[in-house]
Amino acid sequence: MDRRTIGIDLGGTSIYGGIINRDGNILKRANRDTKTVEGREGVLGLIAEVIEELIQERDVVAIGIGSPGFIDSNEGKVLQVGGNIEGWANTNIRGKLSKRFPHIPIYVENDANVAALCEHWIGAAKNLSSFIMITLGTGLGGAIYTGEEGLLTGHGFQGAELGHAILYPKGRQCNCGQQGCAEEYISGTAVENRYAELTSIRKKGKEIFLSSKDDAIASKVIDEFVENLAIYLVTLKNIFDPEGIVIGGGVINSREYWWDMMLDYYRRYSNSPEGMKILPAIYLNDAGMIGAGKAAFDRLGLGK
Ligand SMILES: [Zn+2]
Repeated sequence: MDRRTIGIDLGGTSIYGGIINRDGNILKRANRDTKTVEGREGVLGLIAEVIEELIQERDVVAIGIGSPGFIDSNEGKVLQVGGNIEGWANTNIRGKLSKRFPHIPIYVENDANVAALCEHWIGAAKNLSSFIMITLGTGLGGAIYTGEEGLLTGHGFQGAELGHAILYPKGRQCNCGQQGCAEEYISGTAVENRYAELTSIRKKGKEIFLSSKDDAIASKVIDEFVENLAIYLVTLKNIFDPEGIVIGGGVINSREYWWDMMLDYYRRYSNSPEGMKILPAIYLNDAGMIGAGKAAFDRLGLGK
């Protein structure tokens, strides 16, 4: 039997689902706009619709879901921080969905963790014995992986929350309750907020990157973002000394405007810049879906 899983990538804008085979290929896709609904039940309903569309396929043995927030991956539920989905904290994802799909195992994992699983399986981290994944999107997600231990979850499933490590003591207010979290300086939203703060104009992150060659304020905002990112990479290297760091998330699509500058800053601030690879993620939009499928294979003991 050619076993397959359903991988679901749940985000604040869209839900992407796919049938994933054991080589990491996506055999069929289904998706929904998350923005169109409100609240927990609405989002759960959309996830169920995506599953309905895919579960008719042959040989589907499990469902993996990558979700924002602090995730108890043993219980399949969201803890007290629900990420960028309104009302998502404390949602028992597996409990709710198992009522609709009682005959198939459902696994839930943090969204940055599943992106890391994808990159390690078939992407940029394939040959790395240890690596840190950071995802630069609406927020700043993180995952820490070693060959011996797999993904680091932490004592209370709150480890590797790299977006909420404090970059500036007593700095900007974060929606997690702390002040000065890295996410408030190093994320697509942070770039948009900083630009709006300086100009009173709200622009999409992509436009700000695009205009950074002609617009002095955009250029300043990107420069700050990149310098902060590089400094944060220096800190991560000094704490973990991973073989590599893989950077993914939507902001990577604009990397022609910042990647080389980031490496320059990294070399300037690090006491030993050699020895840690810094790589862009390969899978981007599909990483969450493929990695969620992989998480399900792994939980079933079918990982390879
Ligand atoms: Zn925070």
